[in-house]
Amino acid sequence: MIDTLDHQLELDKLVPDEKSLMITPSDVMEWAFCPRFIYYIHTQQIAQHEELRYKVLLGRQEHERRQKQNTSYLRKKIDCQKKEIDVYLASEKLRVKGRVDEILHFADGSASPLDYKMTEFREHTFKTHQYQLILYAMLISEIYKKPVKRGYLVYTMSHSQMKEVEITQSDFIKMTDIVNQILKIIERGYFPQATTTKTKCADCCYRNICIM
Ligand code: SF4
Repeated sequence: MIDTLDHQLELDKLVPDEKSLMITPSDVMEWAFCPRFIYYIHTQQIAQHEELRYKVLLGRQEHERRQKQNTSYLRKKIDCQKKEIDVYLASEKLRVKGRVDEILHFADGSASPLDYKMTEFREHTFKTHQYQLILYAMLISEIYKKPVKRGYLVYTMSHSQMKEVEITQSDFIKMTDIVNQILKIIERGYFPQATTTKTKCADCCYRNICIM
């Protein structure tokens, strides 16, 4: 039996008081869609459409449902030694916070984030999914002081098929730059470049106010 509660209590002591703005995986996903989302949401307080909120709500319900499932089979599949479920992580140094579905600990001293996705399996990994894993990997590496070389995605709509995603130091450097770009928009009111993928603008809820 995994001693999740005890470890979470230990971890809570390590998580600092949040005095400064902390970036979340949702912020990074919005930035990845278009950096101007961050500008409109956080500096102009213009919320997105209800449909997007509905998707978030669905995601939350799925998240709660997963917590009730028996997920021990995954642990056997990749031979991890210990698993923690639904762990809140925050680092003032990284200026990042988030709640990771699972943290896996391996015999070689490394650890990995595991994130469930309510989508079908694809060979190609969505950039947003990869970004989320990298953020969690940075937090785990910083807080647990363990190497994090890979993360896992589990696709719940494909019989919980699991994919291993390599995570490198250059991913950490790239993500640190993204976090700094998001902070620059929110803290300094910097108006970022529009997305270069103009097809995104056609369905965008900000298209009527956005200067191209
Ligand atoms: S209209 Fe286009 S550039 Fe403007 S916020 Fe939407 S996606 Fe970004």
